Amino acid sequence: MNDELRKDFPILIRKIYDRYPLVYLDNAATTQKPRQVVEAMTDEYYNVNANVHRGVHFLSQQATDLQEAGRETVRRFLNARSVEEIIFTRGTTESINLVASSFGQAFMHEGDEVIVTEMEHHSNIVSWQLMHDRLGINLRVLPITDDGRLRMDLLEGLFSERTRLVSVTHVSNVLGTVNPVSDIVQIAHSHGVPVLVDGAQSTPHFPVDVQQLGCDFFAFSGHKIYGPTGIGVLYGRREWLDRMPPYMGGGEMIKTVSFEHTTYNDLPYKFEAGTPDYIAVTGLARALDYLSQIGMDQIQRYERDLTRYALDRLSQIEGIRIFGPQDEREAVISFLVGDIHHLDMGTLLDRLGIAVRTGHHCAEPLMRRLGIEGTVRASFSFYNTRDEVDALVEGIRRVQTMF
Ligand code: PLP
Repeated sequence: MNDELRKDFPILIRKIYDRYPLVYLDNAATTQKPRQVVEAMTDEYYNVNANVHRGVHFLSQQATDLQEAGRETVRRFLNARSVEEIIFTRGTTESINLVASSFGQAFMHEGDEVIVTEMEHHSNIVSWQLMHDRLGINLRVLPITDDGRLRMDLLEGLFSERTRLVSVTHVSNVLGTVNPVSDIVQIAHSHGVPVLVDGAQSTPHFPVDVQQLGCDFFAFSGHKIYGPTGIGVLYGRREWLDRMPPYMGGGEMIKTVSFEHTTYNDLPYKFEAGTPDYIAVTGLARALDYLSQIGMDQIQRYERDLTRYALDRLSQIEGIRIFGPQDEREAVISFLVGDIHHLDMGTLLDRLGIAVRTGHHCAEPLMRRLGIEGTVRASFSFYNTRDEVDALVEGIRRVQTMF
């Protein structure tokens, strides 16, 4: 599948330390960009650039058309009901903070509760802790099993009459676990509680349909899905967004302003204060089109096969400890080898041209649960190959001989 596709990613032919061909296995942190994305953005800068929504002139209208076409592309990609439910943010982190702040202001009071899980990224923990400081809300935490699955048997018991929201990651950025989000939504809704899904690690790997999931909010980042940095999406059901106050004030999000009273714009602009990163919207839309042309089903099949291959090969390494479930997992593998420190392993792999991530992966509570400080994490894309998995395995073996 990927020989032709790899040609779309110029960075993949780079040599590292002028010696090794790059083996890029840090895709969960950020993905590389196909030339189609970069070219679409360059083209807009060269030929269209003008501020959106405020100009009567030709370029401004064309830039606005591109921005709104991009919104429609995102709507289609997520199968949202309406473009009014698609809000552009700077990324997953900002999307979650928007909900925490705005939903919090509208619907939460001191003593109210938000349910999260033990495998959340810091952005889905700290955003709520800020609301603890502002409003006095508390977190309830759904634990995980030793092999990195949610303890679904304990979920019911976490609900109380103070539960206002469940906020859960779709796929763990450390364990690769795919969480049963539809089941969580069903249980939460039976208590009248809405659900936010952190889709940072799911959207790049398999088809997502927010109507099928039934979730109330869904967040993802452009840069993790082959698009540019600085752009992300918050999907929100209209019935919630309509009742939530703006997150930030400024241009674009208003209808009328006087010193006495301001009225707010309609959805989605109510949540998009200031000049948006309209060039990045074009890049994101081009990335989503690119993925749709390959087919998200096809991407999922290829990556699952590659991950299975990687799990099989890695598990043959003596002294390796692989975290997370054996099945129902996406293209992320966290591991430790013997007593080699994750940082040493990552640094030495880098000297062989292999890019992996090391550390706590912005999931310190999960590290504490696993009783470790950090892991080495290899994360895959459809442009990775079995040869690259073999290079990783050989690299780990070489590092082992140094200890
Ligand atoms: N949630 C998860 C599961 C992630 O993996 C990440 C990034 O690694 C984030 C949230 C934050 O994404 P961003 O830094 O793009 O806002």
